[in-house]
Amino acid sequence: MALRTIRTEGDPVLHKISRPVKEMTPKLRTLIFDMLDTMYEAYGVGLAAPQVGVLKRIVTIDIGEGPIVLINPEILETSGEQTGDEGCLSVPGMAGQVTRPNYVKVKALDENMNEVIYEGTELLARAFCHEIDHLDGKMYTELVEGELHRTTYDEDEE
Ligand code: ZN
Repeated sequence: MALRTIRTEGDPVLHKISRPVKEMTPKLRTLIFDMLDTMYEAYGVGLAAPQVGVLKRIVTIDIGEGPIVLINPEILETSGEQTGDEGCLSVPGMAGQVTRPNYVKVKALDENMNEVIYEGTELLARAFCHEIDHLDGKMYTELVEGELHRTTYDEDEE
């Protein structure tokens, strides 16, 4: 296991389109494990491969219910709407209001290249949208309504 360096806003790699994964290789397997380690170490709920400088369509997510690995993810269906604070490991210490669908259904491959379908609401739906946007070079900061603000550790803040 190894930690990777998280690229931050201003790094051009964050604005590039990632390529689909054609086959699982030992190198990509290592990348996935490293992404999980890096995400947990940074207390993030999601990480996309371009955030560690690799332009491959791979995402890791854990909203506290166990790790999810998405390879070549595609959003099949969305519904509803939620507006709330969103942050990103590539924009440390900041957050901003973003409106996302409240329900998202995703099709992807897992780390064994088997097809998986996930349905998420609330935070998980938000994480699917946010991380899949990274694969298309899009940052949540482009969607923020109003201003970005500093995050605090105040537990009462919603
Ligand atoms: Zn992000």
